[in-house]
Amino acid sequence: MSVQALHPRAPGGVANARRDAAHFINGEFTQGTSGKNWINRSPLDNSVIGKVPEGGKAEIDVAVRAAHAALEGPWGKLSVAERTDLLGAVADEINARFDDFLEAECLDTGKPYGLASHIDIPRGAANFKMFADTIKTISTEAFTMPTPDGRGALNYALRRPKGVIAVISPWNLPLLLMTWKVGPALACGNTVVVKPSEETPLTATLLGEVMNKVGVPKGVYNVVHGLGPDSAGEYLTQHPLVNGITFTGETRTGEAIMKQAALGIRQVSFELGGKNPALVFADCDLDKAIEGTLRSVFANCGQVCLGTERVYVERPIFDAFVARLKAGAEALKLGRPEEPGVNLGPLISLEHRDKVLSYYRKAVDEGATVVTGGGVPQMPADLANGAWVQPTIWTGLADDAACVQEEIFGPCCHIRPFDSEDEAVTLANATPYGLAASVWTENLSRAHRVAAKLDVGIAWVNSWFLRDLRTAFGGSKASGIGREGGVHSLEFYTEITNVCIKL
Ligand code: NAD
Repeated sequence: MSVQALHPRAPGGVANARRDAAHFINGEFTQGTSGKNWINRSPLDNSVIGKVPEGGKAEIDVAVRAAHAALEGPWGKLSVAERTDLLGAVADEINARFDDFLEAECLDTGKPYGLASHIDIPRGAANFKMFADTIKTISTEAFTMPTPDGRGALNYALRRPKGVIAVISPWNLPLLLMTWKVGPALACGNTVVVKPSEETPLTATLLGEVMNKVGVPKGVYNVVHGLGPDSAGEYLTQHPLVNGITFTGETRTGEAIMKQAALGIRQVSFELGGKNPALVFADCDLDKAIEGTLRSVFANCGQVCLGTERVYVERPIFDAFVARLKAGAEALKLGRPEEPGVNLGPLISLEHRDKVLSYYRKAVDEGATVVTGGGVPQMPADLANGAWVQPTIWTGLADDAACVQEEIFGPCCHIRPFDSEDEAVTLANATPYGLAASVWTENLSRAHRVAAKLDVGIAWVNSWFLRDLRTAFGGSKASGIGREGGVHSLEFYTEITNVCIKL
């Protein structure tokens, strides 16, 4: 039964809709056998969206076994062309049901339609097309080698699917980040069991309908809802028939999953937290730097792993930069996803708001000057119970302050002046994280020089979140293990067998 059949969409925008979620196991929607569920609430106003079943050991076991069986079934027998045609059809069907995905994503997250319709849903579809194209065009290596008898030998590499991939995904870009893993996993011939974030169950469930509609064989794509520790997340990553684990989420959770992955020596691919810097040089185009930094700090209410939380500005333009970023932050419009002109939604949950507000208080305790924000905004009565926070800017914190070192994941940043290029690079690299950075300068030599010295996986110059999906994506230090994107995804989602033939 379809999710929508369970709860037909109510008219009148996301606030009035009601939707239950279901597991999707072996091609069927099911509530599972655990008898447990939780209530999914809207971050806009804390109203009930619907019920979500909590999967336990039994649901995970059935899903993993279905995925394992599907490797040997019709899926495993498809040619690359047949498999990639199916993935192209998945992308087309997501686009055909664009409004359903948009509504489901905005129900769970409260993010503005303008954002989700530009990023989350189109990228969710593109992830299937792009990796289908990659796998169709990629070659493997071959070497000839001399041998003592003079006849030589030929080596060539075969890429084989890794097997059953556990996909553990977060809530900030639910469809986009989940398909960023499911797309390449399936393109490479694997099967998947997805454990979406407990905050955002709807689009992963909806994708099950798409898989059935286009004829992806049963058991290839499975979804089991649940929590992390002592629940579906932990049971999935511990299951002995899982061959690889790809995870996006907090660094702390990555540490727990790595221990779970040690059982049976399963490979992990980790995209973890960040505390990303922006370096703004006095020779930048200030209009572009302000516009870009407003996006990198406040987009998705600051809940983007690549988002900027530390801004370093060269001293001659420091005051002007702070004043203009303040004006930009204060002009952001908070409101419902469908409301025209809204560019800031709520945080994902009241619980996450408590965490963000604790940092807002800590910043003051640590001696920050609050340039703007710092608390909870006045919202209209119908939104008063939602997870809203004010966009916030601080100055004056010490470099070792918690708010400068720890990932907050809210709409906030600290701005600090610097006096030399070397100082800016040292400051940028001075956290345990190494995900992304933005450099704002019109000096080409400086741009290349600084980008090469930043200890990050992604260095943007005069831009932010500009993504060519063929390029490597991932973080260094505590921000991750491995790279995904383009051919880099193949390193994780396939096993190479070297065939050596004595001639
Ligand atoms: P989270 O780590 O709390 O949860 C992510 C997922 O892990 C959820 O599905 C959760 O249920 C599951 N989980 C939790 N404990 C588990 C366990 N012991 N075993 C198995 N699964 C478990 O992260 P979140 O709060 O959902 O997302 C925000 C975080 O994600 C931020 O730190 C952000 O920086 C990070 N993130 C990183 C990237 C990246 O590409 N590097 C992208 C987006 C988000």
